[in-house]
Amino acid sequence: MMRQYLDLKAEAGDCLLFYRMGDFFELFFEDAKRAAAILDIALTSRGEHDGAPVPMCGVPVHAAENYLARLIRAGCRVAIAEQTETPEEAKARARREGTAVSKALVSRDIVRFVTAGTLTEETLLEPRRANVLAAIAELRGTFGVASCDISTGRMEMEECQPGTLASILARIGASEVVAAEDRDVPFDAVTRPPGDFSSDAGERALKAAHGVATLDGFGQFTRPMLAAAGGLLAYLDHAGRGSMPLLLPPVVRRSDGFLGMDEATRASLEILSSHRGGRAGSLIAAIDRCVTGAGARLLADDLAAPLAERAPIEARLALVDHVHADPLLRGDLRNLLRGLPDIGRALGRLVAGRGSPRDLGQLRDGLGEARRVGDLLRDRPDPPALLNTLLPDLAGHAELTDLLARALVPSPPTERQSGGYIAAEYDHALDDLREVSGNARRAIAAMEARYRDETGIGSLKIKHNGVLGYFIEVPARHADALMTSDSGFTHRQTMASAVRFNSLRLHEEASRIAEAGGRALAAEEAHFEELVETVAARAEPIARTAAAVARLDVVAGQAERASEGEWCRPVITEDTALAIREGRHPVVEAALVSSGERFVANDCTLSQADRLWLVGGPNMGGKSTFLRQNALIVLMAQAGGFVPAASATIGLVDQLFSRVGASDNLARGRSTFMVEMVETAAILQQAGPRSFVILDEVGRGTSTYDGLALAWAVAEAIHETNRSRCLFATHYHEMARLAETCPALSLHHVRAKEWKGDLVLLHELAAGAADRSYGLAVAKLAGVPSAVVARARSVLQKLEKGRAETGGLAAGLGELPLFAAAAEAEEKECDAVRERLAALDVDTLSPREALDLLYVLKREAGED
Ligand code: ADP
Repeated sequence: MMRQYLDLKAEAGDCLLFYRMGDFFELFFEDAKRAAAILDIALTSRGEHDGAPVPMCGVPVHAAENYLARLIRAGCRVAIAEQTETPEEAKARARREGTAVSKALVSRDIVRFVTAGTLTEETLLEPRRANVLAAIAELRGTFGVASCDISTGRMEMEECQPGTLASILARIGASEVVAAEDRDVPFDAVTRPPGDFSSDAGERALKAAHGVATLDGFGQFTRPMLAAAGGLLAYLDHAGRGSMPLLLPPVVRRSDGFLGMDEATRASLEILSSHRGGRAGSLIAAIDRCVTGAGARLLADDLAAPLAERAPIEARLALVDHVHADPLLRGDLRNLLRGLPDIGRALGRLVAGRGSPRDLGQLRDGLGEARRVGDLLRDRPDPPALLNTLLPDLAGHAELTDLLARALVPSPPTERQSGGYIAAEYDHALDDLREVSGNARRAIAAMEARYRDETGIGSLKIKHNGVLGYFIEVPARHADALMTSDSGFTHRQTMASAVRFNSLRLHEEASRIAEAGGRALAAEEAHFEELVETVAARAEPIARTAAAVARLDVVAGQAERASEGEWCRPVITEDTALAIREGRHPVVEAALVSSGERFVANDCTLSQADRLWLVGGPNMGGKSTFLRQNALIVLMAQAGGFVPAASATIGLVDQLFSRVGASDNLARGRSTFMVEMVETAAILQQAGPRSFVILDEVGRGTSTYDGLALAWAVAEAIHETNRSRCLFATHYHEMARLAETCPALSLHHVRAKEWKGDLVLLHELAAGAADRSYGLAVAKLAGVPSAVVARARSVLQKLEKGRAETGGLAAGLGELPLFAAAAEAEEKECDAVRERLAALDVDTLSPREALDLLYVLKREAGED
């Protein structure tokens, strides 16, 4: 056995090997240690290998999916080795081969690799998130990227230069990336043989997958794209051990059709997940009113890749408008969509050979519902063009749904083993078989009554279990009467309080049940296969229906959200103006509203002649919020949705950039000034006159002089060279002087006022430079002790005096011996704390001691 195990393990490579033994998947050696730690299950051992006990752990087969899900989430890949013959078959083989029957080993084979990117199981997938596998190939300096979501079959291909690869991958958000072994890729990837990534192999594999002689009908694919497709399909073939999942015809994605956003911009705008990592607090969480998983996935897609061309944006907007304008229609539509099964994923599982009768049932119900959705929307006045293209995809499938309706019971099971999913009257032979076993069951029930009469044992029962099948059971004290040779009963088993028998008549009826049952099961199985084939032959139109329904769910959700928040339909233009009246930040507003506060709406009106707004004002005044709300409004509009504003005219943006100064970015865990500058450099190199840039406190991650100098130079460059529309937030009010030299730059600030000695933040944008920075007032607002604020005030006076005398930003600092002395004293206290920490052996501390120590340290650090 160990040899067989090691052979399979060699094949599994760095995947964990799930080795099937009876009702368990067992793991051995390092695999066992790793899995036991992740799954928190017992690590045992079994036998010896090379003189040492073999570590082992196992998971029951019936619960394997749950364990798999946890392993995959922990970043593992798993090879499943199944038994490919029964123990009886193995013994028969041993007999034929003349080897020891008692030692006959059932043969096993890896039937599938379970990896993050190749999942189709409902339990392993998140309903509202796509699960994408991507492959990357490089040909002479150009990258090809092929990606697919095999749970729905969607496949896309694109090409890019090395500089934009990272941003494409950020957009795709793949859960697994494959690349050739011989390439150095700057991210986590599964590496595969270079031979897989040839354009010829890719072309061949695609043609084979779609049964076509040429790919021309699908689009124009470049060699790098085909090479990536080659790597992708080879990996799918490997992971599925030759059985291909659902793959719809690949679509070429042109990068110029979409709003460009790099990874840093996506992260900073918190589009699909917030800085904290989850969906909560993200843009999508504030927008998503989809009632189906497929709708939520498509919305995520729309937001991850907003459009950059007017016509398709307008098409989406017109449909949102149509549904927005008619609340009754919207309500009916959303009610129909609610509870609509996930057609696309059910289809994906069926085609991949991992489907269940329930998936067929979901198609029956989902396709039927889709037709009703179509009926609801058809024949209304002024249908938008997009609706007209979706309607045909909602109809159709009548023959298939009729077939499934006839073939299946109302709620088919997820398991096939015990049958019972094919409806009565679908197949008369099956009905007959069921009748035979039904009759036999009734005969057995009648037999029980008769046996009670005949034997006079009122407590005699006929029972059934998995080991014995049917048997007659009597309490032990009555057993003797049936033990006689002429009783007609044969003894089978003696239990503590009961004895079990068989009889010829019971045996006959039981055999009839078993035989009819076996044949019925085989018949159901055959029907299942046939139905799956029928479905698979219609995979593409079914997928189109799924896509149409998902689009309608997105549209209805957008319309619903718009009416909830009184959002407006943006006007899209081809120029470079940007006029947002009374704009709001959807996430911040939602948070404020839930705590009973009001969001202050603000205008943003940029044009070529006034393209750079410098936004000043106190910390916490609302600068970041203002910047982001405008970037988000652009993004939401170009994704084809309404926006949180009274009105919005948006000159199409080709690239959106968002940057946050380093010190604001601690949450991302790489808050170095270097990163800030790398990201800023990318903007200066890439942004153009159609781009929209928001820069939040850039230059903050370094000293005041450096920071101001850099912020100054960056603003100037964007104004002069990039000529992008730009909102630039800064707390350096010295930068206001830029307005003297940059004609298309204007000054703005978030208003604040001091009232009875307290700072009031109005969150209201006004023209002109900020009168002062209010830093000390903010500190007071934040609860900094008044003594410290007072001290800071006197330092500030000194600084400002110095500045006034020399004209320099921080001149006069040298005259501040007291400031230096204060800093030194503070430093000394910190040193004492630092020394104590260094001397500490953390491992020897009890939780109680640790807590006590924290109190001491805090005291020493002068906190009290
Ligand atoms: P800054 O960038 O100026 O430091 P932020 O944009 O981070 O300020 O805003 C600080 C806080 O002020 C936000 O978390 C929010 O609670 C509140 N805020 C910001 N803008 C508004 C607004 N327009 N209306 C109401 N509250 C706002």
